[in-house]
Amino acid sequence: MSSFATHTVFNQVPPLEDYSLYDTDPALREAVRREGAQAWAGDLNAHGAWLGRAQTLAAGAEANRSPPRLVSYDRAGHRVDRIEFHPAWNLLMTGIMARGLHSRAWMQPAPGAQVARAAAYLMQGQVEAGTLCPTTMTFAAVPLLQREPAGVVDFAGQWLPALYSREFDPADAPLGAKRSALIGMGMTEKQGGSDLRAVTTRAMPLGAPGRGCAYQLVGHKWFFSVPQADAHLVLAQTDEGLCCFLVPRWIPDGPRNAVRVRRLKDKLGNCSNASSEVEFEEAWGVMVGEPGRGLSVLLEMAGTTRLDCVLGSAALLRQALAQSAHHALHRQAFGKRLVEQPLMRNVLADLALESEAAMALALRLARAVDERADAGARALVRVGTPAAKLWVCKRAVAAVAECMEVWGGNGYVEDGPMPRLYRETPVNSIWEGSGNVMALDVLRALQREPEALPALEAELARAAGQHRSYDEALGRWRALLADTEQAPFQARRIAGGLARLWQAALLIEHAPAAVSDAFVASRLQAPGGMFGEMPAGADTHAILARAWPETAAC
Ligand SMILES: Cc1cc2nc3c(=O)[nH]c(=O)nc-3n(C[C@H](O)[C@H](O)[C@H](O)COP(=O)(O)OP(=O)(O)OC[C@H]3O[C@@H](n4cnc5c(N)ncnc54)[C@H](O)[C@@H]3O)c2cc1C
Repeated sequence: MSSFATHTVFNQVPPLEDYSLYDTDPALREAVRREGAQAWAGDLNAHGAWLGRAQTLAAGAEANRSPPRLVSYDRAGHRVDRIEFHPAWNLLMTGIMARGLHSRAWMQPAPGAQVARAAAYLMQGQVEAGTLCPTTMTFAAVPLLQREPAGVVDFAGQWLPALYSREFDPADAPLGAKRSALIGMGMTEKQGGSDLRAVTTRAMPLGAPGRGCAYQLVGHKWFFSVPQADAHLVLAQTDEGLCCFLVPRWIPDGPRNAVRVRRLKDKLGNCSNASSEVEFEEAWGVMVGEPGRGLSVLLEMAGTTRLDCVLGSAALLRQALAQSAHHALHRQAFGKRLVEQPLMRNVLADLALESEAAMALALRLARAVDERADAGARALVRVGTPAAKLWVCKRAVAAVAECMEVWGGNGYVEDGPMPRLYRETPVNSIWEGSGNVMALDVLRALQREPEALPALEAELARAAGQHRSYDEALGRWRALLADTEQAPFQARRIAGGLARLWQAALLIEHAPAAVSDAFVASRLQAPGGMFGEMPAGADTHAILARAWPETAAC
């Protein structure tokens, strides 16, 4: 309490800092155990404690207050296209890479490795989201490059060791002079990002054409995040059709590549991360994957980055929930703490359900990635990832806005954490395939993957027979799916409905009855249009104590 000449300051909330993101999240700890990553619990605990330190949290805010800057020329007038970052960005990248979130689960595959990485990513995203962008794109590129035979570039000998390295090296230098490397993706052009067949960038062979051979690229990309990355995987047209190319920042044994950064995007959120517009002025690249198969190469990468979008949204939702639960514990109105007001309990508990459901589905999908040797698991990832991306990323936008409102006016002010969380949330729904594209992708996966529906049915059947509302909702979803003529028009209902059902199934199977009962009642039986409409009877005490253990005392 401090005194001014006119008033005494009281009833303001202390910052939420110096806490462990892992310790304070019982549902996450349970999911880590359940999905097979208990061996990493110690690492996750240490990671959660590091992330929750006041210094790390401050770095997250600072990296976004001081966005990167494009430096086109050096002082002698040489073209450099360099991106300059605030030291807070480097601190966060150092932490991410030290924990291997950009490659470790592919470098040392083991049961639970993907789940452990997903849980760590989910905590990392609570502190800062911009640094997730180079992390996810690099992570998605690694399994592709692991398969690439040596051509004019030695992937196994040169690129993979640099990608596996856990030392962040921000130097703008040729690969051989660096301790580690990062990868970006370049697909979207001015005329379109969803329909990638419309790509106009052209690649011409510099000698013999084909996989592993050198090409020259001419064209542009309208969104090209992480332009400082050591290479991008770029989609371009060739005589064999669309192909994927590794376009390094520096030509091997040569100068800086002719990838000209025209400008950086001035974005709503994700401000710490550089997203650019570039032109390829006869840029050098090497073909990755089979000729004419560029789209499927990049869509394989997108499968990984889309799951990271789900994790990223689950992260923002979790952090917004933690901030609002903390706020409601410390702020009073009308003679009671906010957390004691019945209507606020309805809102907070409802948000807690959304957060746990998002996390549970994301970690279930991560386990399916761990189990990818099995065709059923691969089919679950294929169909479940776009469904989860559609639903979780959209729900997070509404949920984070609601969390901001729990803070009242302070939630709208840049001194606190809520505006950044709010601005950050929509992008996960837009990039890597926007909502409609995800919904249509669910239909495509169901049509093309014979394993998908049986694998889903087996997953959803495990929760059947325990809640009438769940069984009825499952029946309605099956009927919707059966109407193939209407399916494209109803794709959001099908995909979103699938995600909700799967979330309900996971909670019925694994969460305490207080959580699953309330989830089924409020999402399947009598769904409301906003948060805080849970029907009477919800056990808010149990739900909140699980979501934010400090509330257990009230
Ligand atoms: C901050 C940021 C960073 C990005 N970084 C990168 C990057 O590094 N590399 C990269 O390649 N791209 C990047 N992107 C681009 C992003 O992936 C695209 O913006 C996105 O895929 C959508 O493409 P578009 O913008 O061309 O929209 P469009 O393709 O024009 O789509 C517009 C809308 O139409 C909908 N739509 C499209 N097709 C259909 C259909 N058949 N039926 C119904 N609706 C449909 C879409 O869902 C969307 O809502 C970035 C975007 C942002 C915002």
